Amino acid sequence: MHDFSYIDEKFADIQLLRYRVEGFESLSLRQKILIYHLVQAALSGRDILYAQNGALNLRLRSMLEAVYAALPSEDGGQAAGAEEEAREFRVYMKRFWFSHGPHHHYACAKFRPGFSEAWLRSRLQGIGMKADAELLRYIFHPDVAPMRCNQREGDDLLLTSSSNYYADGITQREAEAFYARLRGQLSAHHDRLPQLGLNSRLERGADGSLHENVCRCDGLYGKAIRRIMKHLEDAAVYAGNEEQREVIRLLLEFYRTGDLFTFDAYSIAWLQDTESVVDFVNGFTETYGDPLGYKASWESIVNFRDDQATGRTRKLADHAQWFEDHSPVDPRFRKSVCRGISAKVITAAIISGDLYPATAIGINLPNSDWVRAVYGSKSVTIGNFTEAYNRASRGSGMLEEFVVDDATRSLIRQYGDACDDLHTDLHECLGHGSGQLLEGVGPDALKAYGSTIEEARADLFALYYMADPKLVELGLLPDGEAYKSQYYTYLMNGAMTQLVRIERGATIEEAHMRNRAVIARWVMAHATHGEAAFVSRQGKTFLQVSDYAALRPLFGRLLAEVQRIKSEGDYAAARNLVEQYGVGIDDALHAEMLERYRRLDLRPYKGFINPQFTALRDAGGNITDVKVSYGERFDEQCLRYSKSYSTL
Ligand code: ZN
Repeated sequence: MHDFSYIDEKFADIQLLRYRVEGFESLSLRQKILIYHLVQAALSGRDILYAQNGALNLRLRSMLEAVYAALPSEDGGQAAGAEEEAREFRVYMKRFWFSHGPHHHYACAKFRPGFSEAWLRSRLQGIGMKADAELLRYIFHPDVAPMRCNQREGDDLLLTSSSNYYADGITQREAEAFYARLRGQLSAHHDRLPQLGLNSRLERGADGSLHENVCRCDGLYGKAIRRIMKHLEDAAVYAGNEEQREVIRLLLEFYRTGDLFTFDAYSIAWLQDTESVVDFVNGFTETYGDPLGYKASWESIVNFRDDQATGRTRKLADHAQWFEDHSPVDPRFRKSVCRGISAKVITAAIISGDLYPATAIGINLPNSDWVRAVYGSKSVTIGNFTEAYNRASRGSGMLEEFVVDDATRSLIRQYGDACDDLHTDLHECLGHGSGQLLEGVGPDALKAYGSTIEEARADLFALYYMADPKLVELGLLPDGEAYKSQYYTYLMNGAMTQLVRIERGATIEEAHMRNRAVIARWVMAHATHGEAAFVSRQGKTFLQVSDYAALRPLFGRLLAEVQRIKSEGDYAAARNLVEQYGVGIDDALHAEMLERYRRLDLRPYKGFINPQFTALRDAGGNITDVKVSYGERFDEQCLRYSKSYSTL
């Protein structure tokens, strides 16, 4: 691939990148065929996320794609005004694909189209399509479905969120009462409860009572699930070992029944299969899209182990107990025995659903608190994504614009990549796996603040240990200076530069961003001798750190408090912390950040175009090899997916 480029097109606030599936050619034919079938299973679930993100999203996608496919070419000699509208429509279409719907994938607010309703109507007429009034209102009316997932304190989070996890009209109080009651009923018969509500839509019956419509082969999203199951059955034949065959069998049973106890059994089998080279996630996984945190969006990733890089995370996992025992957390909230933390670096082969195109660079699953407490979790860092990000960010101009001085810049140039990798490893391998809940504290005690507090816990664990001599001793950092680069960039991002991802006038909504704001602003507020503070240079705001060593105890103090909040289920404290430090934005600082960032002409959000897998077959239809290629454009890819993998 001599012409491979990590950087692809940009539009709106998005930069598209590509990743390479290094090492695929050296896998065995069996492993390649296994990946091929898992890739098909991954793409077959794609429609589920569109449906989860909004009840009208799949219908809207069909309409938009029909218009998109019929647009004249970009130099088609139309009238200037129409050309401008067509350009805006192309941007809107790509944003829609990127977000699986008309709401921003991260900020959750509905897009404002840059083309007019009259233009769209005339395009529809031109291709003989009826103008669907409901869809047009969905696109153009600002009061219709303004937020996909609203987290604003004081609102009814369900009535003000347009995602499709709850039928219209169900209130937050009703849903919370439904799950509290269900929890009460089930806990009379079971010691360990699964994550209730994870794979269903809450609906209202004719008598007004609530019930779950469960995602399974003969239930909600059944057509997509049956197609996923068919490819999983094909994959099972090529499973790496008996453990993996059992993983696939349990996942199939879960898709057949929708039973969440089976899902926990599947999760345990999955996390215990640490030997398979090829691995995958396929299912209802993360709950960020539900403002109440019960319901999981559908996602998939297929990957294989990068043995060389895995040595790094193995080292951390081998010393997990040491890290747990030395943490600044109250011993009552620590795990006395750390087990089951496996860690590896993987190479992603495909991403789909809620991992596509915007993706995580690390995964730590399963999410069930009790499974994690008893069996631990499987932790991975996605090496080829990190690599692509690092390659793409060189020369972006961010350091020149936002870092306070040359000395700090050279610190970051020298240590930044190593520190970022290690931060991700610490966050995923140790941070999420550390600590324990007190007896009787439920996993959803922190409600809407749970995700933010959990991410803060994992980040703080990483930040606290980043400055520990143990990491140099283990050979994971080159020397005792390296951590300073991470401290600087983390605080700068959390307190300043991440604001460029938010529109002027809005507040911080997304859990990871809230978490970074909480940590950075809390630490700066408690650095009372100016150890880390804003300074002004030629009218621009910079972060200046004058005493790095003094920051570590502050990260430690906040880690102890955040772990206490999690372990005790202290909702009021979680709320105070997040509302005080993690939500509001200083408007003058925000305006300055947006302006300085705008001049760099960068895009705050990144996502990946997938590679394409092609099976070569013999005359009998047997796969003789699998080829990976990279040439596809983003719009080509999305249209191909819609053509080949539409199910719902
Ligand atoms: Zn995390």
